Amino acid sequence: MATQVCPCGYFGSGARKCKCTPGQIGRYLSKVSGPLVDRIDIHIDVPAISFRKLRSKSGQLDSVAMRADVVRAAGVQAGRFGKGKVHTNARMSHKQVEKFCKLDQAGELILKQAMVEFGLSARAHDKICKLARTIADLAGAEDIATEHIAEAISYRKLDRKL
Ligand SMILES: [Zn+2]
Repeated sequence: MATQVCPCGYFGSGARKCKCTPGQIGRYLSKVSGPLVDRIDIHIDVPAISFRKLRSKSGQLDSVAMRADVVRAAGVQAGRFGKGKVHTNARMSHKQVEKFCKLDQAGELILKQAMVEFGLSARAHDKICKLARTIADLAGAEDIATEHIAEAISYRKLDRKL
């Protein structure tokens, strides 16, 4: 699912200046916010990229390496859940989130701050924990580290009040 962030489409883009007022942006975003946004796992900005960047190949995971990471992470998840109904982090129940998404003290603090600052729902909270678990799995990490929870929070952009 894709949407612009404001009526003119340039909010947050470096390319051109957005001419929308905060009120216009708020009204625009309220059309896609709430329960729907809550149910989407990952929210990210996809800024327009320059032709030069589009054509350069350096520094990015290529799709072969990416596939290997995903296959490995899927294997980790299969081992985690065994024979039950749930096979992926995304489908975890709240109880499973509590069991499998333990955070260290620093991680707890970051998540708590995000909850308060962005006014996150219980559902958004669980989604962040599941995302962090998957990010940790992709990184081959047994425990969810601070950087994993921070990255997961960064994928819930639309939960924030502007
Ligand atoms: Zn705009």
